[in-house]
Formats: sequence, C-alpha cells, structure tokens
Amino acid sequence: MNSLLLTGGRVIDPANKFDSIADLLIVAGKISAIGQNLSAPQDAERLDVAGKTVCPGLIDLHVHFREPGQTAKENIASGTAAAARGGFTSVVCMPNTSPAIDNAGTVALIHERAAEQGVVNVFVTGAITKNIAGEELAPIGSLRKAGVVAITDDGHCVQNNELMRRACEYAKMFGLPVMDHCQDYSLVTDGVMHEGYWSTALGLRGWPSAGEEMIVARNILLAELTGARIHCQHLSAAGSVALLREAKKRGVPVSGEACPHHFTLTDPAIAGGEKFWAQDGQALDEPAVAFGQRP
Ligand SMILES: [Zn+2]
Repeated sequence: MNSLLLTGGRVIDPANKFDSIADLLIVAGKISAIGQNLSAPQDAERLDVAGKTVCPGLIDLHVHFREPGQTAKENIASGTAAAARGGFTSVVCMPNTSPAIDNAGTVALIHERAAEQGVVNVFVTGAITKNIAGEELAPIGSLRKAGVVAITDDGHCVQNNELMRRACEYAKMFGLPVMDHCQDYSLVTDGVMHEGYWSTALGLRGWPSAGEEMIVARNILLAELTGARIHCQHLSAAGSVALLREAKKRGVPVSGEACPHHFTLTDPAIAGGEKFWAQDGQALDEPAVAFGQRP
C-alpha cells in the first residue's frame, strides 16, 4: 500500500480546530493519522516539511485563465499549474474570455480542456449578460445545465437595475449565486485611484468610495427583493464592509471579498516606493513621506 509520512509541518485543519506542529500519515491517498512522532509502514515515503504548512487545499473564487481567446496571457494548463504550486486545489474561472462564457458550448469547452490539461478542480462561471455587455440576459438556465457554479459579468458591472433584478430572479430559480463587480460607472468614470488628497496631489482622476458602495447597497436591496445570493467581488472601501455587515445581521444572503492589495496598500503607495506601504497591518492614513505641500 502506498504510504506517505509528512513530518514536522504546521498542520492546520479548520474543521477540527487543529493547528499545531505535527506529523501526518497518508495511506492509499487518505489521511490515516495526525500526531507527534508517528510511525509509518517500512516502505512509506517520508518527507520533511518543517517550516511548511499542511492544510486542506485552498479554494480561489476568482481566477482568469484567459482561455479561450487570450492564451498569450494565461491558459488552463499554466493557470492550474500556478494554482497547484500555491496550494490551491480548486479554482473558479471568470467568464470574461473571448468569446465570453455566455453559452453552454463555451462551458463545455472549458470543462473539456480542464479535464485534459488541468491539474486542480476547475469550476466555471457563466456571464450574467450576453457578451458581458450589460444589455441582454445570457441564457442562465442553459448555463446552469452546462454546469456553471455562479453567474457574473466580472469586470463589467451590470448598470441597469431592472436587468440585474431579472438576473437575480433567474439565479434564485436555478440555485446559482450572483457574483458582482461593484462599480457605478456614472460615479467612477475613468478614475484610476481612490479620490482624495493623493489623487489631487498626483493629478490622477479620483474614484470616490461611493462609486463602489452605491452598487453594494443596490445588491443588498436586490438580494432582499429576490432572495438571490449575491457575492460582492474585490471590495476596497470600508463603507462597503459596513453595508454588508449590517445586511448580514438582518439575514440578507450577501457576502464579499477583498484582494491582497486592498488591505496591504494605501493611497500614498501610488506615489511610489516601498516606504509608502502599510506596515504591520497598520494603515497609513497620513502620508508617511511628505509629497509636496498639503493643502
Ligand atoms: Zn476579475
């Protein structure tokens, strides 16, 4: 029987609230023991994993494999290899490929490629609207039948509230969550950073937090209206967190996520240099280094 003994790693098992330096024995592909100084069958392979983390496979809810259409950037083989290297055993692909994942045929193509070339579990999302253009609903029922796990126009926020309402109703009917990139186009126009002192000082077009919060609030109202589960993607504003927290307390089926750069960088980082990075998890509200004269 094939056995593998991992020794000295930090074993984290959230389901059993276990987090400790320990050995872990795998027999025939299954974990058979966790503990100190485990003994293993004679023919067991041994691997010293001191200084490493041993945990259940991580899940990335938001990846862009760019296949089909933009494989110069990434493809299923390279994307899943990178995921595996980082400890991710399941990934959820966004639909803004070329063509967009807005029909059953494209979903089937990705499933096929993933089965041939993928080295981790690949889950597929379908577009909310045809060609993620925000104008006409995609065939949500047939996308569901083809196996999508959620619908989203990632990167393109559905601006029309009525269209979003109908999408939520279909999503609810087919048991699919809706994932939304929260961005009110009329408020953010071509902004490139948070609107405030640093956007003014750098002469860059600002984007007020309200441009994100407006859509988070809209999504909360639509989740209440339709009963659909809405997940707000890559949030960056504290106001969005407050809105979600309040809605969740009332039992509204909403959730959210943030990206690493959203909680490790602050406005002054845009001015350049690592000296502007937030340190020890502490956000730098004031510029760490003077940049011109404060108004
Ligand atoms: Zn994205």
